[in-house]
Amino acid sequence: MEIYFKRDDKDEEFYRKYLADRLPEHIIDAHIHINLKEHVKEVTDETIRKDWALQCGYVLPIETAQKYGRILYPEQHVDFLALPFPLKEADMKANNEYVSQGFIAKNGHALMSVRPEWSPEYVEKVFVEGGFSGFKPYVSFAKNAVEEDIRIFDYMPHSHLEIADRLHTAVLIHLPRSERLADDDNIRDIQTIVGMYPNIKLVLAHMGRCFNLCYFEEGIRKLGDTVKNLYFDTTAVINPQVYKAAFQILKPEQIIFGTDQPILLWHGKREWTERTYINLCREDFLWNQHQYPDKEDEYTLFLYEQLKAILDAIDEIGGSMTIKEQVFSKNAIRVYNLNRYAQDGD
Ligand SMILES: [Zn+2]
Repeated sequence: MEIYFKRDDKDEEFYRKYLADRLPEHIIDAHIHINLKEHVKEVTDETIRKDWALQCGYVLPIETAQKYGRILYPEQHVDFLALPFPLKEADMKANNEYVSQGFIAKNGHALMSVRPEWSPEYVEKVFVEGGFSGFKPYVSFAKNAVEEDIRIFDYMPHSHLEIADRLHTAVLIHLPRSERLADDDNIRDIQTIVGMYPNIKLVLAHMGRCFNLCYFEEGIRKLGDTVKNLYFDTTAVINPQVYKAAFQILKPEQIIFGTDQPILLWHGKREWTERTYINLCREDFLWNQHQYPDKEDEYTLFLYEQLKAILDAIDEIGGSMTIKEQVFSKNAIRVYNLNRYAQDGD
């Protein structure tokens, strides 16, 4: 088993103080990556060296994720919307199959990763037969070698969007380009998708990759009316300013909880400048510069900081347990049609 973290006494203390009684009983983590080591054996050391997120972890078998769920949330019941780990060098066909046979077939729900070069016939067959709940294209599958020029349609072509539209399903998009949600081409492409494919439920991962407030505010302003047709997942965002703005601007129905496991299973937090951030972390990773070694003992799990930031933002708008239930499970059930996770009243 991959051991990514050790939950210590301070984590237990933090959980009891800020989370245990404030979280709803049922949680759906609607963005975790599930795979086996054999699916990523072609991923090179160079790829990992260049990517801080991959250094944190890029293998997470289903049983391990379920065990982590019980450790992280002792007082809650956690379900997952599982995603394959979409890496350029990974065996995506085998990873989709593992997710489908190892998780969906055992009463789970999951998204299918799609490479742009796959034929529409193949994509639809695997999607329908595998029982998937939506599509997870990924930016690194784009053919365009120049990262700064990548457009959404380079990795989620119209031929695949047409399938999603016809099947009335969800598409979870990780936006390209350094300006993220605020990028003019991204805005145009999002508006095109919303206009052309009204049956697609379009979810933007990482709040549109808005880890800083400026991208969120600028992006929302540029999107105009289109905003009301979108959903946002909270994955990897812990910035209280972003959550505060999100709960003021968006409807609670548009926000879906997710964590990006196994990437952020370490102790730490973030520090922000206007347009960027640094991760502060206790565990040793190549990227970790240990900015404040004296404070590292005090860090709790990044995921707990994220949960606290979401709960604080909901409290700030005077939000009730009903809103928490929407964000932490019911929105995911509705948007991704996760009928097996629905409980009484969902
Ligand atoms: Zn992810």
